[in-house]
Amino acid sequence: MIKNYMEEAVDRVYEYMRPNLKGVCTCEQCVNDMKALALNNLKPKYVVTHQGEVYSKVGQLHIQSETDIIKEITSASEVVRKKPRHSPEFFEGQA
Ligand SMILES: [Zn+2]
Repeated sequence: MIKNYMEEAVDRVYEYMRPNLKGVCTCEQCVNDMKALALNNLKPKYVVTHQGEVYSKVGQLHIQSETDIIKEITSASEVVRKKPRHSPEFFEGQA
């Protein structure tokens, strides 16, 4: 099975950043938007996984990647904070 490890890393980093992301909506739509925005700006990191192997790869993620993930989630959270997609204003703005 091929997996983009970056998705898992973004999930993990988002979870610990979450309490500090003030004023950012945490509904499913907004959280997914935020993660997608961040992932689009991060280089995918594909790994081949076998049962139970995924977590051994976690530690291999370079510290620089974590800094990048924090940076991307921070800017993605700004986008979502200003224009949450659950809001009707977003759709008016896009029209
Ligand atoms: Zn929301």
